[in-house]
Amino acid sequence: MSKLSIRDLPLNSNRIFMRVDFNVPLEDGRVMDDTRIRETLPTIEYALRHGARLILASHLGRPKGKPNPKMSLKTVAERLRMLLDKELARGENVGFCPECVGPEAEEVATQLEKGQTLLLENLRFHSEEEANDPKFARQLANLAEYYVNDAFGSAHRAHASTEGITKFMKQCAAGLLMEKELKYLGKALEHPEAPFVAILGGAKVSDKIGVIKNLLTKVNVLIIGGGMAYTFLKAQGQEIGKSLLEADKVDLAKSLLEEAKKRKVKLLLPVDHVVAMKPEANAVVQQVGEGQSIPADKMALDIGPKSIELFSEEISDARTIVWNGPMGVFEVPGFSKGTFKIAHAVADNGGAISIVGGGDSVAAVKAANVADKITHISTGGGASLEFLEGQKLPGVEALTEKK
Ligand code: AMP
Repeated sequence: MSKLSIRDLPLNSNRIFMRVDFNVPLEDGRVMDDTRIRETLPTIEYALRHGARLILASHLGRPKGKPNPKMSLKTVAERLRMLLDKELARGENVGFCPECVGPEAEEVATQLEKGQTLLLENLRFHSEEEANDPKFARQLANLAEYYVNDAFGSAHRAHASTEGITKFMKQCAAGLLMEKELKYLGKALEHPEAPFVAILGGAKVSDKIGVIKNLLTKVNVLIIGGGMAYTFLKAQGQEIGKSLLEADKVDLAKSLLEEAKKRKVKLLLPVDHVVAMKPEANAVVQQVGEGQSIPADKMALDIGPKSIELFSEEISDARTIVWNGPMGVFEVPGFSKGTFKIAHAVADNGGAISIVGGGDSVAAVKAANVADKITHISTGGGASLEFLEGQKLPGVEALTEKK
């Protein structure tokens, strides 16, 4: 990685402003899932072990630039205290500041001692955060000497705490989680071991055009499943019934199919389907075999057994695998088989570097109980897609270059 890492910073006795992603689901003031907090613990522990005075900042939800007690990070501070106590017996050293900028925040940040942690209130209680307001960014920067970004999931946004602040700090470095994301995603795109197989799914072609275009220049095999596959099948002149279709993307799908051919990328689409009238659990389900047409009044909601077999064969031969997006409406039991079988196929290839991103595929890998067999599960949905598109992420670009 060309950017500074937290390992390169003089942490001892210095105040470190660390942007984290504590955007966790809250219900009635309780943290319902603390995965995001736990994922950043190694970076927090690293900083504390090296004597940092640690200031943590995050957004939570969409408070639209105004304070909203329902989106306060106070509850998150309590959970962090509990987790740090369990891991490091350091929970008593976690403080919470009800402001993220201004005199009160500056006062508590100044008094912070070595090995102590302070979590600031929700950055998005100020509209200046998302507007990347330089004055606000400078106020954030006033709290510390050095900057660490461990919030990969927010790195595709140029906000005050991810980009603006870096202009006012001595040195800006990636946290351990950020570093891990960049290492795996970066290696897959820059130096993938062949065969490189990418699997894309989900509802919309339009969301993944950039990813398809970029991956076509890198992969050996591109598997397209899920709702987005049907615009491609339509482009090939197939009957798709009432399956998802983006009519205005059919020509683009045709040109992407031609591009794949030109580049000698093996592009696989579903050859058989599970169809029904509606994506509902009690719907009457029908299999449409290879060579058969999808009935005019039905929609394809999952890939069929032959497609699972064909896709799994390619996956088992791969040395690098990137997967983003489900193969069907996996939230509904009758249409989840394709996605779960693909999750198993990816997990079963122990010789490959496998990277899974996007909320649905990550959820599928966890539900299939194979998360521990995946090399890297990306924490940033939007950010990982933009990375796969080959775009520069402002929150990463802003970090200090290694000398
Ligand atoms: P995305 O956000 O684009 O990754 O899409 C995820 C959504 O795509 C999930 O909620 C799935 O239910 C949906 N999906 C996957 N396959 C299909 C399909 N064949 N028809 C309709 N929706 C689908």
